[in-house]
Amino acid sequence: MKITKESFNKYVRENIFNTLDTYQLIKDDEKVMIGVSGGKDSILTLHMLTMYQKESDIDFEIKAVCVDEGISGYRNQGIESAISNCKKLDIDLDIVSFKDEFDHPLDDIQHLYKSSCMPCGVYRRYLLNKSAYENKCDKIATGHNMDDEIQSFLMTFSRNDQNKFVKFGPILNKIHEKMIPRIKPLWQLAEKDVGIWCIVNDIEIHDEECPYSETSLRSEVKYFLNKLEEDNKGIKRNIFNSFKNTFILPEAEVNINTCNLCGQPTANSPCNACKLTQEINELL
Ligand code: SF4
Repeated sequence: MKITKESFNKYVRENIFNTLDTYQLIKDDEKVMIGVSGGKDSILTLHMLTMYQKESDIDFEIKAVCVDEGISGYRNQGIESAISNCKKLDIDLDIVSFKDEFDHPLDDIQHLYKSSCMPCGVYRRYLLNKSAYENKCDKIATGHNMDDEIQSFLMTFSRNDQNKFVKFGPILNKIHEKMIPRIKPLWQLAEKDVGIWCIVNDIEIHDEECPYSETSLRSEVKYFLNKLEEDNKGIKRNIFNSFKNTFILPEAEVNINTCNLCGQPTANSPCNACKLTQEINELL
């Protein structure tokens, strides 16, 4: 059966709108901050939430933020794509950087860690949350797709880290006044469909792998799952559905405090970002 551009776009739109509606990811009068890296997932999220804003009965605002980690030869193209797509869609975009907030671009500190993604993830989550809080946003929308969710699930199992189970699902609830809930509109959409959507609609994206991605466990898990899928078509969707239909997501922990150094929410003070900064300053 031939799939037309129209039918494919309809499938993608319905998949994402279904996630937004079923899990009530956005409510009336909310302000949603979209984390935009300029890659395909965040750009699709940007376009679809703009469409949802026009087509649904829900009255909400959109704002975007792009985090500049400081990765030379890579991040600038992503920022250009974020700027260009936000301009086309008339969405206000802020750019925040590791350099401005933490004094060090990722390039200068990544060698201190086995995986560059560790400091990058800690600082990026911190900055996204801080930006959303300072912009009085009610939700942070990320571009996490179905493949990302399965990878995270397997990584959590492989690390025997059950505390992370609260991070699964299409929405992470509010557990602290300054911790902005995250939503994942692409939660049920396969990564390959995100890529196809960008191509068939001729959308400008930054389509390169981060030069540090190979240092991560995620890239190994991703490779493993893609290999499985190559030999067993549909296996990723089966894993996702099994998880979705059987796994009861635990309630988020309510024991969240405030960092005594920066005032941001954290389980234990100082927060991971402040601890990381202290550690980096000692190591450099
Ligand atoms: Fe950061 Fe790792 Fe993503 Fe690169 S792949 S942007 S280092 S989290």
